[in-house]
Amino acid sequence: MGKIQLLSEHIANQIAAGEVVERPSSVVKELVENSVDAGSTRIDVTIEEGGLQLIRVSDNGSGMALEDCELAFQRHATSKIATSKDLFSIRTLGFRGEALPSIASVSRLECVTSSTNDGLGRKISIEGGTIRSVEETAASRGTEVSVRELFYNTPARLKYMKTIQTELGHISDYLYRLALAHPGIAFSLKHNSNLLLQTLGNGDLLQVIAGIYGTAIGKQMLPLQVESLDYTITGFVAKPEMTRANRGGISTIVNGRYVRNFALNQALLQGYHTLLPINRYPVAVLHIGMDPALVDVNVHPSKLEVRFSKEAELTALIEAEVKRLFGRQVLIPQGMKPAAPKGAYVQEQLDLTRTVEPVNGSSSTTPAASTTIPTPLPDSTIQRVFVDSDRMVMPQVKETVTSYRPESVSTSHPPAAEPQRSSTAPTTSGSGASYSSRPSSSSNNNYTSPVGGNPRSSSIQQQRRTNEAFMDLLPSKQEGEAPMLPAFPRLDPIGQMHGTYLVAQNEEGLFLIDQHAAHERINYEYYYERFGNPAEASQELLVPITLEFTPSEAGIIAEKLSLFEQAGVYMEAFGGNTFLVRAHPHWFPSGEEKGIVEEMCEWVLSEKKAVDIAKLREKAAIMCSCKASIKANQGLSVLEMETLIDRLSGCRNPYTCPHGRPIVVSFTTYELEKMFKRVM
Ligand code: ADP
Ligand code: MG
Repeated sequence: MGKIQLLSEHIANQIAAGEVVERPSSVVKELVENSVDAGSTRIDVTIEEGGLQLIRVSDNGSGMALEDCELAFQRHATSKIATSKDLFSIRTLGFRGEALPSIASVSRLECVTSSTNDGLGRKISIEGGTIRSVEETAASRGTEVSVRELFYNTPARLKYMKTIQTELGHISDYLYRLALAHPGIAFSLKHNSNLLLQTLGNGDLLQVIAGIYGTAIGKQMLPLQVESLDYTITGFVAKPEMTRANRGGISTIVNGRYVRNFALNQALLQGYHTLLPINRYPVAVLHIGMDPALVDVNVHPSKLEVRFSKEAELTALIEAEVKRLFGRQVLIPQGMKPAAPKGAYVQEQLDLTRTVEPVNGSSSTTPAASTTIPTPLPDSTIQRVFVDSDRMVMPQVKETVTSYRPESVSTSHPPAAEPQRSSTAPTTSGSGASYSSRPSSSSNNNYTSPVGGNPRSSSIQQQRRTNEAFMDLLPSKQEGEAPMLPAFPRLDPIGQMHGTYLVAQNEEGLFLIDQHAAHERINYEYYYERFGNPAEASQELLVPITLEFTPSEAGIIAEKLSLFEQAGVYMEAFGGNTFLVRAHPHWFPSGEEKGIVEEMCEWVLSEKKAVDIAKLREKAAIMCSCKASIKANQGLSVLEMETLIDRLSGCRNPYTCPHGRPIVVSFTTYELEKMFKRVM
């Protein structure tokens, strides 16, 4: 007697349900897609308890004829394809005929449908895959499917369900995509009677985008339209300054189907190229139309993943168009592009002056020294630094944030004590020896700290401004804190390389310090400390900061308000998906307050359940430190370099930045001597 037998339809459906119906959002997806396929112009979705209690989808589409509505719940019953040829020209969202029977096998389902306008329809009730009743009923044209107690008969699956908010997040996320894919259909989504999404169905994609991502983003979208022989692409892409922390704002829609495709995403991001900050992503909605024969949607039961037969052509088209849109026709491949004109380091002057304003206009920043300084450019990679006593003067500044000014700077470097240097002094002749720097420096140097004057910047004024801002940005040393790690070596700066690395030395050898990483570490420890007791420092804002979220995000944020309060950020719901930030710690880096609260929110949203106050404080401290820190490509004076090294040496962990990257690399004297074959 053989052992093989055919599975009953009931078991086959339950097995299929394992693939098709993974969680409540998959039910929503399948039902709503059926409604779209039925030509509906309005689709209303009602959810209770994250979809585990109830999912109801009602539409005004074609409805099902009396003889069809029982058949629809049989396995492999579909009206959408008939022959295998049809499989290669699919224009509907569904075609496998699996969804309804699968859903019906793991829930208590009721379907009311009518394909006529005579007010008559049919109601079919199914429990765990078994038809309980089929009866006539009054119904208008269209279909309404109600799914209750999903997974009631598959407890193992039920166990895997996450919180209501998480399930709801998946549902709303999917519905947003569908609304973006079909701006001509009026969608609504209600959860426990809260309206989470409503689109007008008037075909205006931009309006749908604004409804989902907020009007602020809606205003920053640029239309995109391009055509090739095989493809038409339309949609909107956000300006590079409107970025998000994850790829969730990118929607690629192929023939009306939202798809997840790595290559398409990459092409879009490549189009933005370096315009996007690292780890930031745009909001973009691309409608891609093509002959259905060019795309295989039958790769996965959920049909989210697709395969293109001319992928390279498509991705090139997207990339080129996004590039063109942002006005950069040619892009020289990296590596071939000279970093800067030969012999000159372009020292980008970042505006770090946000935190300070001269009390009496520009006069306080006008340099006493001549601004016409000859700029012979030595052909050396190590940049000599320019020391000018005038630059050491800290002009009076009006502070908008609580002071954490480095007192030690003004005490250990009284301006008058510095050697006066002519600004027209030749570059290499140095009065370096007289430049004895930090009081902590041990005096048994058998080397001298060379100090030559060559200001690279064409504008002294700019350098001065950078100075003040830099000093102001650098928190003072935290007293009484013992470093946890081996003592940081005493280092004397010699110069700066590429406006990015400090070059320093001591008896042991040569050291390169990543100035941004160092600054970040110093700031991080400072902010981390402050986040320990943020409420004390919270100050009410005269003008609250407005934040907009998608409905599902707003749901999560609303649940986390007390968490934010523990980090000193007081927010309140302000109707719809808008929140107002009423107060935040006054020591947030000036000008970056909104960005920081936004990033805190984005982090909380991306971490979902796993957030706790300790982690939030740490993350927030990292965000603050990153925002408050000098970037690479910024010229620093000797005093600035010394201050930076000094502060760094006071850190608990002066060796790595908060992201874990190294701050200092070194070459011992011995290593150097070996390299130069002075020793063997
Ligand atoms: P598929 O969508 O792959 O065809 P389904 O199991 O989802 O398979 O649906 C089976 C059939 O039931 C569909 O082909 C369609 O004819 C019919 N149907 C399902 N939902 C609707 C609806 N909302 N309106 C009209 N017909 C529907
Ligand atoms: Mg279907």
